[in-house]
Amino acid sequence: MTLKKIEITFDSLPSSALSTAQLTMCLKCAFDFFTKQLQLAPRTAYTELRKHTPEETDFSGASTSRPHFFESEHARCPYCNAAKIWFARFRATRIDSYPSFEKERKKLWAALKRQADRFALSNPERTGMQIFSEWLERLKRKTDFERDDWLLDIAIEEVKRAEPSKVWDEIILEGIHRVQLSRHLDGSWHFEDHRLFVAPPLYGDILIIQHLLSRSHQHGGSTFEGRLTFQELMGRLKKIGYFEARGVDVREYYEAFEQAVAHLVASGPTAVYYAVDRSDYLEKLKTIYEKKLKK
Ligand SMILES: [Zn+2]
Repeated sequence: MTLKKIEITFDSLPSSALSTAQLTMCLKCAFDFFTKQLQLAPRTAYTELRKHTPEETDFSGASTSRPHFFESEHARCPYCNAAKIWFARFRATRIDSYPSFEKERKKLWAALKRQADRFALSNPERTGMQIFSEWLERLKRKTDFERDDWLLDIAIEEVKRAEPSKVWDEIILEGIHRVQLSRHLDGSWHFEDHRLFVAPPLYGDILIIQHLLSRSHQHGGSTFEGRLTFQELMGRLKKIGYFEARGVDVREYYEAFEQAVAHLVASGPTAVYYAVDRSDYLEKLKTIYEKKLKK
């Protein structure tokens, strides 16, 4: 049996809904744990290890524990100093799923399930707010706030989140040089001549995201409309007709802001799916096991 018989791609889904992470595992640490600490036979260790899939928190770096680590940070195993030959890699693909492409997601899942040995699948419980916060976290980590275009980068990410579509892959390839407010659109956006025109609700969402991300950073509250305090941001949103368009009651600013964020969350993904590709791991595990038997 060969693991790479059918090549599965995630191309049927908008790339903005996908995020990937790679994690390395030290097989020397792993085998030693079973054979030396637990005193198990290599065959039993191998059988146990074949079932292994790292936790989501190992991939995210929230609590990456032995024998897992990130190869980008270590050339040798940080726990036992083993060389690369002992390394096996897992690749996790996270799907932030929207009802609009649930059909494609289900089809992909069915294909992945047919390779149950290779792909470990999970669907962790998440509220819309958790999905939104995690997205903000990822966006914050990958944004280079030193770059001149970071406001533009964030704006594009928000548009992709709010309007998930495969169309963005082409548009981004063409290049978006500017994002600007337009009050004369039929839909919520229009792309022309490297410029992305967005309607007031989407433009307001962009300002909120820029504000949320930069206020926790050295730039503090920077947006397309300049550097704004919370009161100024709210005033600007009111002026462009954001609250009216969103149906938010604006008598009290903090309450209005909460409602606006609730709307942002509701417009986003509704579920999270994880697929962990174990093909490299299973291959390396087998090689190491066979070497051990020959000893
Ligand atoms: Zn190790």
